[in-house]
Amino acid sequence: MSLIEVKDLKIGYEGHIVLDKVNFNIEDGEFAIVVGSNGAGKTTLIKALLGLVKPVSGSINFNGLKQEFIGYMPQETKVDSNFPASVFEIVLSGTLNKTLFYTKKEKKLALDNLKLLGISNLKDKSFQELSGGQRQKVLLARSLCSTEKLLILDEPSNNLDRESKKDLYEIIQELNKKHNITIIMITHDLDHGNLIGNKIISVTDGTVISESTDDFVRRVHHE
Ligand code: ADP
Repeated sequence: MSLIEVKDLKIGYEGHIVLDKVNFNIEDGEFAIVVGSNGAGKTTLIKALLGLVKPVSGSINFNGLKQEFIGYMPQETKVDSNFPASVFEIVLSGTLNKTLFYTKKEKKLALDNLKLLGISNLKDKSFQELSGGQRQKVLLARSLCSTEKLLILDEPSNNLDRESKKDLYEIIQELNKKHNITIIMITHDLDHGNLIGNKIISVTDGTVISESTDDFVRRVHHE
């Protein structure tokens, strides 16, 4: 059974349909890459998966996964980089606790995720003083605090230099392969040998084409 089944989905904003006749599945353990030009509707599609945009028609079925247990790393983070929070506080805020008092279990989860991403040493640093690559890892650790199953990443490597990008992609691949976390990632990085997913969801001409990475490469080469 697929982890996510999208059937005949139509989505958009008031008086403006962005995507129609959208059909695709996400299997447990997959690494799906979402591509498409600016304004094509990638973020709208992701927001629909997260329940932030309501479908006009059609359905999204999650099999055994609650929408609130999806880890989400937005493109432009709501964490203001001038906000004087420590790395630990930011990662902790990714837990589903909406009060100011965190339990021992939540604190452990935050520490475990810092460790998992190899950034325990940054724990007490202020977010402000981190490099771009370090910030992205912190935000990734934060989004991991709300899921053990599915991470949705919106252009996580934006504005990173080549080395930091490579480093971040390696970590995301490890989360997928070693920790069996299903990944859906929007990216523009298709031409740097970074075709790391097994499935490509192309958002184009008001709908999506979902195909294996190999089929995508063949199709794009023929166009
Ligand atoms: P992408 O992520 O591929 O760049 P978006 O999903 O952000 O594309 O945008 C798709 C279309 O939806 C664009 O035409 C954009 O202007 C429109 N759009 C995005 N967000 C909103 C919104 N909150 N209200 C109305 N229209 C929006």
